[in-house]
Amino acid sequence: MIITNNVKKTKRILNVQKLDNKVIGFVPTMGLLHEGHLSLVRQAKAKSDFVVISIFVNPIQFGRGEDYGSYPRDIKADSKLLMEEGVDLIFCPNQKDMYPSDFSVFVDETELSQSLCGKSRPGHFRGVCTVLVKLFNVIVPDKVYFGQKDYQQALIVKRLINNLNYDIKMYVLPTIRENDKLAMSTRNNYLNDNERKDSRCIYEALSLGKELIKQGETRVFVVVDKMKNVIMKKRSTKIAYIEILDAVNLKSLKKIKGKILIALAVYINGTRLIDNIAISVK
Ligand code: AMP
Repeated sequence: MIITNNVKKTKRILNVQKLDNKVIGFVPTMGLLHEGHLSLVRQAKAKSDFVVISIFVNPIQFGRGEDYGSYPRDIKADSKLLMEEGVDLIFCPNQKDMYPSDFSVFVDETELSQSLCGKSRPGHFRGVCTVLVKLFNVIVPDKVYFGQKDYQQALIVKRLINNLNYDIKMYVLPTIRENDKLAMSTRNNYLNDNERKDSRCIYEALSLGKELIKQGETRVFVVVDKMKNVIMKKRSTKIAYIEILDAVNLKSLKKIKGKILIALAVYINGTRLIDNIAISVK
């Protein structure tokens, strides 16, 4: 397994693989890997000949006052995990190579990023799209792997690949959860024992939403209100958003029908966690 922060070296290695007709699988991450990330890595391994993982905490997708500085990093532990998975290359670029002092070109998605996390974290998806285009240009992957946990991100990346004519096949894989159903996330590391217990309300709220809809409730505000009550029962929580949207275009719904997304972002004493469920309603 090669570990490098060097852009030119990474390009050179991947060129050789391409000349050899190898299928390049790529999983972009911000590191401190957990089973959610590893589920993507395993699929990449199963479906491609040469697997690249990037580890880069991307400063431009964090807003002011967010956790860029404190975001946990442990490249040693990550490398060990990825070695065990049989990954071929870890690309962990330097900040100055990704964003030189004259950096002034950004990639902006202007439709799908208007709601949910795009609304509550202005500039977030501009940062995500920009870093992904840079990573795609260095690695030139044939296949990329993303998690449904970041549903909006996955939709935006699909649009980006399509709109910018990348020849990349994208796979979106299911959310991996802890035993108590909390979605795995690097940010779960911020939670103390009490906060960790409180965080169960996130999946409880999503499940309640799903159940109400299954029972025939079609009014968005009724479902959202009941979900809010579940979250607000815990003193440590603050709701950033709870929304039920069209799962294809992320537009708001008059009535719950078709393929829909129930999505939320909740702070547990300052730790921002997101989760979602997508369902089809007749
Ligand atoms: P991150 O390191 O948080 O930027 O995540 C890197 C990739 O892993 C993204 O495509 C995420 O959607 C995906 N991911 C993160 N958590 C999970 C999870 N619990 N289950 C599945 N995929 C995940």
